[in-house]
Amino acid sequence: MTRLLLIGPPGAGKGTQAARLAEAYVIPAISTGDIFRSNVRNHTELGAKAKAYMDAGDNVPDSLTNALIRDRLAEADCDSGFLLDGYPRTTDQVRELDEFLAGHGASLDVVVELVADPDVVVERLRKRAREHGRSDDDETVVRHRLEVYRDQTAPLVGIYDSRGVLAKIDGLGEIDDVTTRITAALADRGIVLPDAASR
Ligand code: AMP
Repeated sequence: MTRLLLIGPPGAGKGTQAARLAEAYVIPAISTGDIFRSNVRNHTELGAKAKAYMDAGDNVPDSLTNALIRDRLAEADCDSGFLLDGYPRTTDQVRELDEFLAGHGASLDVVVELVADPDVVVERLRKRAREHGRSDDDETVVRHRLEVYRDQTAPLVGIYDSRGVLAKIDGLGEIDDVTTRITAALADRGIVLPDAASR
């Protein structure tokens, strides 16, 4: 059982690293942002409720987000662990996740903080806006998302640090190098790649 969380500002590369780590450790990557976007695309009731917040770069209310993640973590593929990307984002969500995991006698094993300079992430998101046209990658919305991160999410790093589960990783540089840094930090904490474990 490997329970991981990737935390960091928008544009730090969480989604890219989450996909790679999920494959390497054979656990599902769970991105609340992806789940919300797919609900918006499919015109679900949840999507309709979330869309205005997302377009403005605000957090979707905790009540909606917490319900969504409870359902997702209860699915069978999470039995072997999971990698959370973009949840929790507020102290209320931390409480909710703690409660959910405690109910299963569990807790997060490692919280990986991807550290990235704000100027660099703004530039990355500008590029993503040009290439993928995500509606919340518009420059003003990006600046607001960074503020929301600073005000509501950055304090979570201290909470996890005080629990002794935080690994701070430099998120800048080549994608492969960042992945290598993360796997090394996880190995230091006793979480090894499945193929390495079986050798
Ligand atoms: P992301 O893909 O993680 O950048 O998320 C895109 C958007 O989805 C955010 O700007 C929020 O509007 C919403 N969102 C994603 N995850 C959460 C969360 N844990 N809590 C609240 N809103 C979220």
